[in-house]
Amino acid sequence: MKKFITLLALVLTVQIHSQITGLSGWNIVLDPGHSGQENMGIHNYSEAMKNLYVARHLRAFLLDSTDIDTVYMTRTDSIQVVGLSQRSDYANSIGAAWFHSIHSDAGSATSNTTLMLWGQYANGQEKVPNGGKAMSDIMIGNLTKGMRTNTVYGSIGDCSFYGCTSGGPYLSVNRLTNMPSELSEAGFHTNPRQNQLNMNYEWKRLEAKTFWWSIIKFKGAQRPYPGIVAGIITDSESGQPINGAVITVNGRTYTTDTYQSLFYKYSNDSTLLRNGFYYFEKVPGGNQSISVSAPGYDTYNSTVAMSDTFFTFRDVALVNAMPPYVSGIIPAEGDSLYPGVNSLQITFSRPMDTASVNAAYSFSPAVVSAARVWNANERTLTINTSAFQFGTQYTLTIQPTAKDKYNHPLDGDGNGTGGDAFVHNFSTRVPDAIAPKVVFSYPADMANVMEKRPVINLTFSEPIKTSSLSGKISYINTSTNANIQT
Ligand SMILES: [Zn+2]
Repeated sequence: MKKFITLLALVLTVQIHSQITGLSGWNIVLDPGHSGQENMGIHNYSEAMKNLYVARHLRAFLLDSTDIDTVYMTRTDSIQVVGLSQRSDYANSIGAAWFHSIHSDAGSATSNTTLMLWGQYANGQEKVPNGGKAMSDIMIGNLTKGMRTNTVYGSIGDCSFYGCTSGGPYLSVNRLTNMPSELSEAGFHTNPRQNQLNMNYEWKRLEAKTFWWSIIKFKGAQRPYPGIVAGIITDSESGQPINGAVITVNGRTYTTDTYQSLFYKYSNDSTLLRNGFYYFEKVPGGNQSISVSAPGYDTYNSTVAMSDTFFTFRDVALVNAMPPYVSGIIPAEGDSLYPGVNSLQITFSRPMDTASVNAAYSFSPAVVSAARVWNANERTLTINTSAFQFGTQYTLTIQPTAKDKYNHPLDGDGNGTGGDAFVHNFSTRVPDAIAPKVVFSYPADMANVMEKRPVINLTFSEPIKTSSLSGKISYINTSTNANIQT
């Protein structure tokens, strides 16, 4: 029993020591903007809901980890409908020390900037009591870095931002509150990427963390070791976030949101929504192992160096595990080509390790030194056929030692499993000894044409290499022998 009490005392001591001091005698009103499902985002997740969860996380951070007197909320759920003046009336009635209003922005789908708006009068002076500007100046940096986006106006007085001809501040929550105040805009809920991130539970914790760090700095306290690693898992080729990826850090796992776990709430399309976001707290410092796996992808294994001062971001682009296959070939199976005129063209499903392909293909009967060229994306190989025999059946074989850029062996038969050869039969045509000739012309030879500008028409007995006609056709005025330029 003695041992237990000692241990308990130790735990309590540790808790007291880990608490951030300097907020005692102070309190704050957190104001999650809007009510219910107001300000719906582009993918059906509302700003109001995002704001509520950010406020709840921030309240927990402040109450659990600092000596703040208390944290008030202007609403605590998504059912209450709270008007603008009710929010400021509430803060004024309790004589709160601070008012922080939490929002996100709306506009074009490509915009995703951050913004801090502090109370300002039409004459440009900061609202009295002062403080909103100083807090905003701290918050804007943490918020923008945390969201990993940019800001256009940064921390700005609301009258400068919206324009006030008299009075001010512009925003109700700045104008009607009696205490220092500010309002945050964390990106745009009309931005598809941001709106899908907003759906994630821990993403809202990340936003709250940026405010928490800002508030304790404003109150003169040191930021504790963050211990947070977060990032976005994407497909290396498409760039699309991956649902259901499993991230393991320091022995703990996090699975990115899926349709079944989350997105079904916001869409009937099971493939539409994705954010690829993961987030770990309480990760020890130094180098930590990280692995990422997802069905159909190669597993990623690495280490991550934890930041002592901010979030540690580690985005991972997973490589699709699908083996490469031949997705197109000219001539087709059983078809033919004319040696020296038609090339042999092989297209692969993925970028290839070209040296491995060059060493892996052969022809039967053998062809000596056929020139070849790879296109820029390293997916298409074009082989010159000048060295091929006429009138011959050829078999092209590409051994599974041919690999893609990611070291996956060729899937010759295209059944989804790599490691087998690609075999392709084609033939070469017999030599064409007959020269092309003109079989029809308009106007006809020696014809007397009444048209002012006849369209001259020549028809050949077989397809012509059109580039070979260049400079070969001339028009002569037979009465003057003048060469008519065309
Ligand atoms: Zn808003």
